[in-house]
Amino acid sequence: MMTDRIKIKEIDSSNTSDVKQYNPSNRIYVRAMYGFYQKLRRYTGWGLIVAFVALPLMQWNGQQAILFDIADQQYHIFNMTLFPQDLTLLAWVFIIAAFALFFITTYLGRVWCGYTCPQTVWTFIFIWFEERCEGSANKRKRLDQMSWSFNKIWRKTAKHIGWITFSLLTGLAFSSYFVPVRELYLDFFTFNTGFATTTSVLFFTVITYINAGWMRSIVCLHMCPYARFQSAMFDKNTYIVGYDAKRGETRGPRSRKDSPEELGLGDCVDCDLCVQVCPTGIDIRNGLQYECINCGACVDACDYTMDKMGYPRGLISYTTEEKLAGKKTKVLRPKIIGYGALLLIMIAVFFINIANLSSAEMEILRDRNVLYRENSQGLTENTYTLKILNKTIKTQTYDLSFSGLKDAQLLGPNQIIIKPGEVLTQPISIAVDPYGIKENKIYITITLTGASGEVETIEQQTTFFLGL
Ligand code: SF4
Ligand code: SF4
Repeated sequence: MMTDRIKIKEIDSSNTSDVKQYNPSNRIYVRAMYGFYQKLRRYTGWGLIVAFVALPLMQWNGQQAILFDIADQQYHIFNMTLFPQDLTLLAWVFIIAAFALFFITTYLGRVWCGYTCPQTVWTFIFIWFEERCEGSANKRKRLDQMSWSFNKIWRKTAKHIGWITFSLLTGLAFSSYFVPVRELYLDFFTFNTGFATTTSVLFFTVITYINAGWMRSIVCLHMCPYARFQSAMFDKNTYIVGYDAKRGETRGPRSRKDSPEELGLGDCVDCDLCVQVCPTGIDIRNGLQYECINCGACVDACDYTMDKMGYPRGLISYTTEEKLAGKKTKVLRPKIIGYGALLLIMIAVFFINIANLSSAEMEILRDRNVLYRENSQGLTENTYTLKILNKTIKTQTYDLSFSGLKDAQLLGPNQIIIKPGEVLTQPISIAVDPYGIKENKIYITITLTGASGEVETIEQQTTFFLGL
């Protein structure tokens, strides 16, 4: 059967980096490279970090804009307060995220991994600390091979202090989504946080330190499931980072003045820079490999070499298999259209669900022991217990009414007041003269009138036992 999927190559590990054979003592010394994609990654990364730290610091209507209050089971997201009953919305968020990932991966390959995945963003920040304290990739390698000296000790110490400080800030920022942010920062630095909060901050600090400091590409290569199923989404029109072998081969060193044609060489000068800057330690000239996170560092590196040699840029570039084969890239194709359409439908359903979120929930419980009773006035009376949850962030007054039984009376309050996020348990009775009545369905209604006059009604059906 014909398929337009790209085959992901398994490259012999003796040819490439040691990192393929998992060994915690193997390290990749990533060389710093500057260029368009490095800047794009840096600004995207900083934008995401600023958003990650700043979002819980924002206030909205006098309370923390985003706070997942697990103890009180209330999840505040700007002017929305969600309760465990609303957590189907979370399922929709995951479904949308999954389809967005399928759509973007089919179109642009693993750009999520290269630019926005926290593992990549934090890894590049940790590499920045490493460079500042221990120097370039070659210097870092030499330093690791040296025996311990004062120079090595202070450089390593400074790096680890930087890593731990950044990890601690990450742990605090993460925890501030679950604990009121002002108390968290104040209490943490005055040693007043409780056991659960301290444990959560320290846990995320340690996880960040280990992941971004020590594990880095090991997480991408050996732990992340996404790398493994990406090939199912790639096709020959997916944008990947690719090496133009037709143009680059035969590779080989030469001087800037030499003519490659006369030497029988292609444009690749075999400078190895594309390998040295790769955070996963692969050689993209061997073809697409599952380790490639589409970060574009090798594109910047190769462009730098091409500029130095006076050759046109783009020997390594964001391209497609079709383009590399000299054909036209097809952007609009059935898979892209399908994922895009499904994504739009999911987003629409999600917003419809949000628009239909009610500001209260009501549950009606019948008195199961006494289904009905005849009261002193000769009326048949049924008793119910209402459980009403105020899902707003303000104290609300609800009007209570019912319908479905002609000439029946409500024995209970007409109005109830409920504090924000609280569940009120309210017993009520309904009484009716049973003669001539056939229906036994009634509808209990609570009505909330907003400040600007908008009316929200929540109605539940229950049964009325006539006892005849
Ligand atoms: S091969 Fe290039 S794009 Fe892929 S991970 Fe390495 S540097 Fe990034
Ligand atoms: S950076 Fe470019 S020129 Fe240098 S080895 Fe890689 S592909 Fe060849």
